[in-house]
Amino acid sequence: MSDTSTPIRAAKGTDLRCKGWLQEAALRMLENNLDPDVAEDPANLVVYGGTGKAARTWDDYHRIVATLKRLENDETLLVQSGRPTGVFRTHAMAPRVLIANANLVPEWGTWEEFRRLEALGLTMYGQMTAGSWIYIGTQGIVQGTYETFAAIAEARFGGTLAGRLVVTAGCGGMGGAQPLAVSMLDGVCLIADVDPWRLGRRVETRYLDLVAPDLDSALREAKEAQDAGEGRSIGVVMNAVDMFAELERRGIHADIVTDQTAAHDPLVGYVPDGMSLEAAAELRGNDPSRYIELARASMARHVAAMVRYQDRGAVVVDYGNNIRTEARAHGYERAFDFPGFVPAWVRPLFCTGTGPFRWAALSGNPDDIAATDAAMLKLFPDNAKLHRWIGQAQRRIAFQGVPARICWIGYGERHRAGLMINDLVRSGEVTAPVVIGRDHLDSGSVASPYRETESMKDGSDAIADWPLLNAMLNVASGAAWVALHHGGGVGIGRSIHSGSQVVADGTADGALRVERCLTNDPGTGVMRHAHAGYEAAIDHARATGLDLPGITT
Ligand code: NAD
Repeated sequence: MSDTSTPIRAAKGTDLRCKGWLQEAALRMLENNLDPDVAEDPANLVVYGGTGKAARTWDDYHRIVATLKRLENDETLLVQSGRPTGVFRTHAMAPRVLIANANLVPEWGTWEEFRRLEALGLTMYGQMTAGSWIYIGTQGIVQGTYETFAAIAEARFGGTLAGRLVVTAGCGGMGGAQPLAVSMLDGVCLIADVDPWRLGRRVETRYLDLVAPDLDSALREAKEAQDAGEGRSIGVVMNAVDMFAELERRGIHADIVTDQTAAHDPLVGYVPDGMSLEAAAELRGNDPSRYIELARASMARHVAAMVRYQDRGAVVVDYGNNIRTEARAHGYERAFDFPGFVPAWVRPLFCTGTGPFRWAALSGNPDDIAATDAAMLKLFPDNAKLHRWIGQAQRRIAFQGVPARICWIGYGERHRAGLMINDLVRSGEVTAPVVIGRDHLDSGSVASPYRETESMKDGSDAIADWPLLNAMLNVASGAAWVALHHGGGVGIGRSIHSGSQVVADGTADGALRVERCLTNDPGTGVMRHAHAGYEAAIDHARATGLDLPGITT
């Protein structure tokens, strides 16, 4: 049963359809994930990131909704790869929903096996926040992207991207954050996407300034903005490989080069060069093996162009889509000549448990986010980066679906922010409960050797005990819903990660849950990095009194 005729939107206001706010929060955020203003392909239940889905089928979606509505305040719903499978009596402080998506026994953890099982209707790809119901549109990734480009600007260009050209591709759900993040730092972003609809959507949602009619006009616009030192983002409908070939032919200098096509999924997420969207769709359906072969060959050419840009002095970084591995699989030996963005730019933040912290106003009222923004600035008066970010976000980011905000804060800060939000709900300054969650791209909740845990100091890149411990600790700490996924970001076989949400409902129990979850969750990030031998994490653990046997006690 498909519901494409009636678009799904999250309910607003203070009326409950469920028996408690924890269930209602999960329901509203599931609905929000499939809101046509939020999801990339809601008719097929696809939220973002290739085929990251919110529920396995429409029947499953309706059954999840019905179950959440009848779920008691001492019960827990289990969701197995997008299908509701059981309701168990637990207790009031336990999570209301536990989710496991796309998990496979390691030897079976391949795209081939996953697709076989998916075709049998037995599993679903949950990406990260798609199957764990906490996607908030492209804003969700903007700050992470902004933090990364800000770190590069700081290290290489005197703290600003003014006058600099960033060249990239892939303007989808996550990749669409790149143009906005670059222009927020006063840089110029040239971004290619094969799909004109995707670029148009980013313009509508104010993530991209304009789509140029062709590459020549795009380059004219870019030069003008660079000369003026103004932030500007320019989309061009082109295959990335073709764009790089043309840029190299014209001798265009780029300062930063990256990519966010959905290369982690060579069958669905990447269009081979020389192929129209229609031809790609046809071949994908008729001959998937041939398609994958062509996509990998194209990625090898794509990565080779990026490496040549690095050879000419550009800062080149893999933006977490695993394109290097696919290029290497096709025989391009220099694929790993450029680093992933985490070891290169983000790991120091992870060492202090700093990572994405997002909150969504279940009232649906943007004023509630304005109130929390103001309170965040007051709570952290000395955090200049946070102040700059929130100011920019308020001016430049359009809400999609449920009004939400994201910022990156760390261990010792997140629980204070959560308690502050809980107080605002209790006092009525915020008109309904607020859900607080995060991406799985985070310091303590992911094992992903091509991305978050690439090149760990102690070589522990592929150890996946850490995200399992993180998920179990969040369950024990009273999260509202917790999810454990396989394959997000970089594809099946390459990552294990977990997500956790808590609801600030203004009650004393809410305060306890918020305090425990938002202390312990980032605490696992500090723990993971301290045990890997990072001095910054060890220092942070000591400074904050985190109890890490063998390290601080
Ligand atoms: P998406 O599926 O929404 O968008 C991918 C886009 O790439 C589409 O618009 C598609 O038309 C375009 N595209 C595909 N092949 C192309 C080509 N050859 N040339 C030009 N454009 C092409 O995916 P998304 O949610 O934007 O995620 C993109 C990638 O980034 C994924 O691999 C995802 O796992 C990864 N990701 C990274 C981070 C991060 O923080 N670094 C976070 C989330 C996701």
